[in-house]
Amino acid sequence: MKGKTHIIGGVASSLAVAHFTYADPVLLIGAGIAGSLLPDICHGGSKIGKTFPVISKLINFVFGHRSFTHSLLFIVLVAFLVDYFIPNDALKLGLITGMISHYILDMATKSGIQLFFPISFKVRFPVTTRTGSFTENIIFSLLCLVSLYFGFQVLGVYIFNFINDFNMGELMAKPVYFIS
Ligand SMILES: [Zn+2]
Repeated sequence: MKGKTHIIGGVASSLAVAHFTYADPVLLIGAGIAGSLLPDICHGGSKIGKTFPVISKLINFVFGHRSFTHSLLFIVLVAFLVDYFIPNDALKLGLITGMISHYILDMATKSGIQLFFPISFKVRFPVTTRTGSFTENIIFSLLCLVSLYFGFQVLGVYIFNFINDFNMGELMAKPVYFIS
């Protein structure tokens, strides 16, 4: 899958998670986008591979493409590192969500992923598509629609609360009565 499909996959999935949880949506979506790009660090031509060429070359040399960084083991490692260095639930949830969305999208391609690395068994869906194909464009469009749907739900509430927090929304907010 192309980078833009992974990004919109990360946006759609993290917005959906934000809709059903109380995690901070902006942090969650930001982390979701980062998580959706992170697995392709093993591939020098990817967006993240170009950003961190040395790390990318090293990981590609040691593990190859779509193996360790496309595995459950990698998700556990990232979750552990986040817990250790930047303990924040929204950040962790977003990263994991984005990574899972990346795995699912890559499982829809013929080469699949080594989900259970170090076991080299490749996991993919029974029906697959090619990167840059017409089907990928359809998937991209559908994910845009999902993002729009959850985007309105999540960010609408977020902006409403934000305005209320700064006491600028007296007209919009329902009155709150205090009993003394
Ligand atoms: Zn990938």
